[in-house]
Amino acid sequence: MAACERAQLSWGETAITEIVMSRAAAAVSVVPFSQQAEAISGADWVWWWVDATSAYGMLVQAKRLRVDRGRWRFDFGYRNRAGSQWARLRETAATMDLVPVYALYLGTGDYRSWAPCPDDHQGLRCHSCVKRSVSLMPALLADSWIVNDSKTTYERSVALEDIATPSWTASFLIPALREQLAPDLANFLLTTQTGTRAVTRSMIDRVLRVRMGQFGAVSAPGLTAARDSSHDRLGPVFSELPTDTGHWNEPYFGHVLNPLRHVPPGYVLEIESGEFDVDELASNMPEDVTGIVVVRLPQNG
Ligand SMILES: [Zn+2]
Repeated sequence: MAACERAQLSWGETAITEIVMSRAAAAVSVVPFSQQAEAISGADWVWWWVDATSAYGMLVQAKRLRVDRGRWRFDFGYRNRAGSQWARLRETAATMDLVPVYALYLGTGDYRSWAPCPDDHQGLRCHSCVKRSVSLMPALLADSWIVNDSKTTYERSVALEDIATPSWTASFLIPALREQLAPDLANFLLTTQTGTRAVTRSMIDRVLRVRMGQFGAVSAPGLTAARDSSHDRLGPVFSELPTDTGHWNEPYFGHVLNPLRHVPPGYVLEIESGEFDVDELASNMPEDVTGIVVVRLPQNG
């Protein structure tokens, strides 16, 4: 992004995604599908974060930042409109038991005029700002009407480089929600997590923080059993989740936490073992999926 800016070239989502993928570390497996998906704008990648105890799956769509007279803009597409790119991402993620996420390409600090980040901002050349060039935001929080400046963008997203960093602080929790948590979920949200669980925390923490700022009573404490709870060695890690919906009209705990599973799905195991057929893999995926990324994390983060 910096090189393009110096050359006064605009940069697009597809080009940046290819560069990010091509430079991925050795612990990352990247399986691109054939050209067919390239024609589809807003093509999505399946990302799995895997460690020795669990796996967390995302459906990731890239969105670049545009800055227009100090105003920040992302083209997330229309919310709540059937057939929109935003709705399609959500639907595809739901059918695959993944959490829908945007990979925000924010360009360089210069591009963002070094707008202060919330992490002990160091002015020009601030390292935290530099790390923000690729940031991940739960799609639940991606509302073009609200996410239109640096403050909301930074609050609602996390730098890709920091996504697996253990969270030393507890999640933001409305007291009424705190009372509804099953013991395993309370432990997850209130104590430091590492590896795959730290990645999961980085997503639910952004959602809980926004939930805390919303007015509106917490939904009655009906607990939902996650789908697949009958095969609990294979299914979601948390079997009981609060049904609170906030302003989203959706039980957001399940939306973000059901993709945290004890073991990854079969296609991830095949990719990690190197024994798979790309065409067969692609044919079993929805057509807007461009490829799969598997990141193997050390347990200690
Ligand atoms: Zn900064």
